[in-house]
Amino acid sequence: MSEQMEYQGKATMEKITSLAKRRGFVFQSSEIYGGQSGAWDYGPLGIELKNRIAGAWWKEMTRLHDNIAGLDAAILMHPRTWEASGHVENFTDPLVDCKKCKSRFRADMISEENLAAKKCPDCGGELTDTRKFNLMFKSHIGPAEDTASIIYLRPETAQGIYVNYKNIIQSNRMKIPFGIAQIGKAFRNEIVTKNFIFRTCEFEQMEMQYFVKPGTDEEWFNEWRRQRWAYYEKLGVKMNCLRWHQHGADELAHYAKDAYDIQYLFPMGWRELEGVHNRTDYDLGRHAQFSGKDMQYIDQDNNNERYIPYIIETSAGLTRNVLMILCDAYDEEQVAEKGSDDDWRTVLRFHPDLAPVTAAILPLMKKDGLAELAQDIRKELQDDYATDYDQSGAIGRRYRRQDEAGTPFCITVDYQSKEDGTVTLRFRDSMEQVRVPRAQLASRLKQEIKGYKRIK
Ligand code: ATP
Repeated sequence: MSEQMEYQGKATMEKITSLAKRRGFVFQSSEIYGGQSGAWDYGPLGIELKNRIAGAWWKEMTRLHDNIAGLDAAILMHPRTWEASGHVENFTDPLVDCKKCKSRFRADMISEENLAAKKCPDCGGELTDTRKFNLMFKSHIGPAEDTASIIYLRPETAQGIYVNYKNIIQSNRMKIPFGIAQIGKAFRNEIVTKNFIFRTCEFEQMEMQYFVKPGTDEEWFNEWRRQRWAYYEKLGVKMNCLRWHQHGADELAHYAKDAYDIQYLFPMGWRELEGVHNRTDYDLGRHAQFSGKDMQYIDQDNNNERYIPYIIETSAGLTRNVLMILCDAYDEEQVAEKGSDDDWRTVLRFHPDLAPVTAAILPLMKKDGLAELAQDIRKELQDDYATDYDQSGAIGRRYRRQDEAGTPFCITVDYQSKEDGTVTLRFRDSMEQVRVPRAQLASRLKQEIKGYKRIK
């Protein structure tokens, strides 16, 4: 049913971009110079959100699997890597330019009529012939700008894993099937960067490459599809906003035997969030050929049988996941019937495990020792929870500010707190408030986080 579903949420890309800036999630890069397209800076709340998404993925892919090891390979790799991987030859987009307005387009993204008539979709001017445009950023390493010193910024993290696969087998005594997981920056000279942080030139990927015996690859491919789907369910994402898209023959990458994308229903429509790919023995085979090194696996439990493993890849965009989580969490709701602006709230319904701030501590008044008491409570919780402290403005306004930042719990300290040692615990989603003895706060938060269920 979700195949036909259209976006029904309250978010728009304009609202998300403006909230992200206002609340310090994401800023435009080099804004004071007019901005750098394709690059974004993660502010105080943004880096917390990004780190938590990365942390959830890392836990899922490494800690919960005893046969998946982590890696952090360098961004700069020997240039032969990219010849072997096929990126120098094949990692291209078809590009056309408008001779009149100078706009640049991906040829596969403009209509067939416009392309056939060489007509610019923006101004009607004449388009150039289509040419191949390589998406890798190329630079030079060392002082001489000759061809011997060419270096690329990696366009995917995967190759750093492949070239290290034997190191990891040896250092960690891995046996097939096993995986290697990595989170890191990747760079692509994207022709069209729009929709905020959806498609950028500098971004982060979370990739896991799973090495399997040829012949078992289809089974593992299905298993990883199952696991990656279950992961998003665990994160609390609206599951009717996710769907599978299988690559048709015209979409399959040069190395792939089968590929499925997990797509998310963003405000601008269904778009890829993550890919699960059967990359066959292509990558290791090519690295064997280009490096002259033996990339075969030796199966010591099976008469030293030798083979080049097949690779099942799960490849997700971390920064694209940040956008997905922001859109998924975004909500607006009317909270009173008085008819003024104050009656509406914008709320980010993050899962508490992902929320940049878990609990905000708010003294009702600054005076009469309430601020000191609130600070004291904050100190007590700080070690285990990400906390915020806010003492300025009316309490209702402060709740709204925390709702907009996605803080699941507010702890309000009032005069009663001084007398009987209880505080008010306020829940972001339901806006319900309960009185809790201070001594039980930490354990209550733990229990609420563990049992969290999104109600809207
Ligand atoms: P697209 O078709 O969107 O260009 P792709 O199929 O080239 O993506 P992959 O090479 O499979 O993407 O990369 C894996 C993941 O990395 C994608 O699912 C996406 O989440 C992320 N990703 C790829 N390119 C970008 C980019 N330019 N900006 C942000 N994230 C990206």
